[in-house]
Amino acid sequence: MLEEIFQDIQSDLRYDHELNGCLNCGICTATCPSAHYYDYSPREIVQLLWTENLEGIYDAMQEKIWACAQCYTCAARCPFGNSPGGLVMLMREVAIKHGMESAKNVLRPFSRVMLKLISTGNQLSPDMINPDHFADWGPNISKVSAPLAVLRKAIPMATLNTTKTAWEVNLKTSVELYTIWEETGVLDQLETIDENLFDVISDIMEEKREDWEDFLDEQDDED
Ligand code: SF4
Ligand code: SF4
Repeated sequence: MLEEIFQDIQSDLRYDHELNGCLNCGICTATCPSAHYYDYSPREIVQLLWTENLEGIYDAMQEKIWACAQCYTCAARCPFGNSPGGLVMLMREVAIKHGMESAKNVLRPFSRVMLKLISTGNQLSPDMINPDHFADWGPNISKVSAPLAVLRKAIPMATLNTTKTAWEVNLKTSVELYTIWEETGVLDQLETIDENLFDVISDIMEEKREDWEDFLDEQDDED
């Protein structure tokens, strides 16, 4: 399995672009914000890959790679033109593909965001601005939450007049996004990581696709 995981990382088209050699100089780690706060070092990650240390790579994928903030400061500084942050991204994608427990744990808190994104086309919505979510605002929250619907209606663009989503995403756009997610393997990855969420999302996608077909039929009837 370790060989298979490394093979998946190494065979990615981006791999040779992100890794050109490594002096072990540590410049990447010296400038990495995550290295200051966590037991994490981009130099170590790059060295593991450069020396093809399969066990070390697997261990890093269990925990350390998830500490990277994907800021790419390392890529701007490496004298070899490596991108440790980019390599971490590849390792994360392979961890997801193999359904590694670390990937499941890291992504679990984002399931609500994913559901919101697929069902509305947005990650966030104005109705999240409420006393439950912003207890630290104290009574000030009512200045926004109470007249929220009215405030939103005051925005000149009709697509922003909603409170359930940041803006209304056109049905055609949603359906096109589903195709992109399918073709790029995003939904396969989701199924590996969280089967229940995948089932819920599949139902939503099916409904929206039916709505889109109905809309097209209506247009045909009108013609
Ligand atoms: S990845 Fe680049 S900056 Fe980091 S240790 Fe290797 S050569 Fe140095
Ligand atoms: S991209 Fe990741 S590894 Fe690179 S500097 Fe930012 S946090 Fe550190």
